[in-house]
Amino acid sequence: MSYNNIETALIHGGISIDERTGAVNIPIYQTSTFKQDGLGKMRGYEYSRTGNPTREALEALIAELEGGQAGFAFASGLAAETAVLSLLNTGDRVLISSNVYGGTFRLLSKVFDHFDINYTISDTEDPAAFEKDITPDVKAVLIESPANPLMTITDIRAISEIAHKHGLLVIVDNTFMTPYLQRPLELGADIVLHSATKYLGGHSDVVAGLAVVKTPELAEKLAFIQNSTGGVLPPFDSFLLIRGIKTLGVRLDRHVANAEAAAKYLTEHSAVKSVHYPGLPTDKGYEVNKRQAKNGGVMISFELKDNYDINTFFENLELITLAESLGGVESLVCHPSSMTHASIPEEIRKKVGITDGLIRLSIGIENIDDILNDLDQAIAKSEVK
Ligand SMILES: *Cc1c(COP(=O)(O)O)cnc(C)c1O
Repeated sequence: MSYNNIETALIHGGISIDERTGAVNIPIYQTSTFKQDGLGKMRGYEYSRTGNPTREALEALIAELEGGQAGFAFASGLAAETAVLSLLNTGDRVLISSNVYGGTFRLLSKVFDHFDINYTISDTEDPAAFEKDITPDVKAVLIESPANPLMTITDIRAISEIAHKHGLLVIVDNTFMTPYLQRPLELGADIVLHSATKYLGGHSDVVAGLAVVKTPELAEKLAFIQNSTGGVLPPFDSFLLIRGIKTLGVRLDRHVANAEAAAKYLTEHSAVKSVHYPGLPTDKGYEVNKRQAKNGGVMISFELKDNYDINTFFENLELITLAESLGGVESLVCHPSSMTHASIPEEIRKKVGITDGLIRLSIGIENIDDILNDLDQAIAKSEVK
């Protein structure tokens, strides 16, 4: 098929037509096993943990969108991370960006530590500081850019160059940007991870994870781990993700336009103490983000001034829903220190700047005036007089 643009690849990429029937949507191959025509005579599939046509279409699609060698679909973002981190060996250490998703931190600090696979929090915003953290046991770096929830930006190209000089594997969690806004493999990363639960699915109706690798060697290793550990994405959920990805471009265009307007609104509001959004020219990550991503993405975090009560703010929001997660068509709000990042110990949260007053917004695709009106009335009601 001939096309040069990601908007088209979102719809026609990977395996987009069912070869046998011509169906323009890949059917949900809801089967656990496949008939063999004789001993050792398979028709390309043998058992759905190992391979399933619906999942395979999704895996081919995400590999194409990220520009990688192969894609892998898992039952959640954390299952994808678990599989990727299983590439490490006992005694290895991974450097992680200083504000990563709370579940990533918990996976490393409470599960992989049992196997003596260790982590160090590193300031990947500062390439020189990052290089100083590379000890002989460090074998990988796991970056989020923008990192959650302070939207800090890491120069993926600069970190990849330093990391590769020291033989490290570069892993980028691209959940917040998606390949529509940022393609880490082109910037030097070796592996891209996604919580596809978020923008790729886009409708808050499926939990899924994806990984894409750059080389055939990594593809072979991760295929082995995926089949051996078994956290695969079911056929129906694979179908939902393919369906979600088709509209990623139009959804994100609207999401980003709304987010830019909301960030501007918050910046100009007299009740607001700070705004974190890499699409604002005043943001400290703006220049680096502009070099490596299409725009500042959708996620915003902010703090209200001390004479505003955040409990009252959350309770008075009517349209914007207080909930974990992000990336759906509806606007969501969360309180990182007690919700998404509660699994990070308080002293570490304080150190990296995740204050108890921090509010995280996932701006949806509703009419922007309705979103801003809701913020406006909730902020007004939360003022302590
Ligand atoms: C949600 C999220 C994850 C975890 O993904 P699940 O699908 O919830 O397992 C990982 N990284 C980031 C950045 C996330 O937002």
